[in-house]
Amino acid sequence: MSDNTDFGEFELLRRLTEAAGVSGREERIRDLILAETKDMWDETHTDAMGNLICLKRAARTPARSRRADKKTAPANPTRVMLACHMDEIGFYVRYIDDDGRLRVQNVGGFDTRNLFARRVLVQGKQDLVGVMNAVGRPVHLATDEEKKKIPTVAELFIDLFLPKPRVSRLVQIGDPVTLIQQTAMIGDALTGKAMDNRIALWVAINAVRKAAHSCRYDVYFVACVQEEVGVRGATTAAYAIEPDVGIAIDTTLCCDTPGIGKDDAVTVFGQGVAIKVMDSLSISHRGLFDEFLGIARRKKIKHQIEVLPRGGTDAGAVQRTRAGTRAITLSVPTRYIHTVTEAIHRKDAKAAVDLLAAWLSA
Ligand SMILES: [Zn+2]
Repeated sequence: MSDNTDFGEFELLRRLTEAAGVSGREERIRDLILAETKDMWDETHTDAMGNLICLKRAARTPARSRRADKKTAPANPTRVMLACHMDEIGFYVRYIDDDGRLRVQNVGGFDTRNLFARRVLVQGKQDLVGVMNAVGRPVHLATDEEKKKIPTVAELFIDLFLPKPRVSRLVQIGDPVTLIQQTAMIGDALTGKAMDNRIALWVAINAVRKAAHSCRYDVYFVACVQEEVGVRGATTAAYAIEPDVGIAIDTTLCCDTPGIGKDDAVTVFGQGVAIKVMDSLSISHRGLFDEFLGIARRKKIKHQIEVLPRGGTDAGAVQRTRAGTRAITLSVPTRYIHTVTEAIHRKDAKAAVDLLAAWLSA
C-alpha cells in the first residue's frame, strides 16, 4: 500500500477531498484553496454568498523580440469564468433526541442505500466523529420485510457515544455533518468522497498554472458555493463577473460498470476529459464546443463527447446570467458518483488540465 502515501501531484486533491465543506458551509475548502494558491492570483475576494473569486489577468504576449517584450496585455481581454463548485453533499443537524443522538436534514441528493454504517464528522463547537446508522433492529433480529427496507434520511441517526448533556454542550441544531472518507489511490483511480467536485478545483488551479505565461484571457477562477442545492453560488458570481465565456468544470456520470448497458454509460473511465454537449440544465454553446473539440483533436488530448440525460452543472447558471453568456462544461468522468467511493481516472484528470490549459492559451 505504499502507493497510498505519496499522492505526488494529486496531494492537493487529497487534501481538498478529505476536508469538510457541505453546501452553505464551504469555509474550510475556501481557506484551503486560498492558502495553497494565494501566490497565483492578481486579486482574490470572497463575495456575500461565500464564493471565492480569484482573478488571474491575461498574460503578456509571449516575448519574441525586444519590441514584443514591451507589449502589454490587450486592453480589454475577454473575461472567462471558471466555475468550479466547492460544496459537497452532506447534512445539517435538525434534532437532538433525549439520548443525545442526532437526526439530520440532507443537503444534496444522497442514495440512502449507501448511507448505512458510515463514520461522519459533526462540526460542532469542536469537530466530533460519530457513526450514522438507520433506526430499527439489527440484521440478526430484523424480519425479512424489515431487511428489505431502505431507510429514508429521516430514519438515519448519528451516535456520538456521548451522554446527552455533553452532546448538548457541543452540538446545536444547524451544525454541518459530512461523511468521513480517506482518499486513496487504487489502481489507476483516485477514490474518496467529494471528488464531486474538488477534482474541478484541482483541474482549474493546475490549468491556470500551466497556462500562466500564455493565457489570452482574464481568468476568473470561482470556487462556487451551493451548487448541489441548485447552482446558487454560480448564479450570483456570474452576475457580478459578467463573463464573456463561462466554463463549468464538474464531474459526470461514468457508468461503465456491471449491470448497466453500454448505451447508458454516459462516459468511459480512462477515455479522457468529457466535452459536454448537454445535460438537463444547459446545452453547451456550439461554437465553444467546436473550439474545445478542435483543440483536443489537434493536440491529441484524450477526450470524449458527453450527453448527460439528467443532472446539471454551474454552466446552467452562468449561461443564463444577465443577457446570456457563452457557456460549456468540461467534465471528469466519475464512477460511483455521490458515494464515498467516487473514483476518477488519473489520466482523465490530467486530460482535463491539458485541454483547459490549451484552450486558455490558444
Ligand atoms: Zn458536482
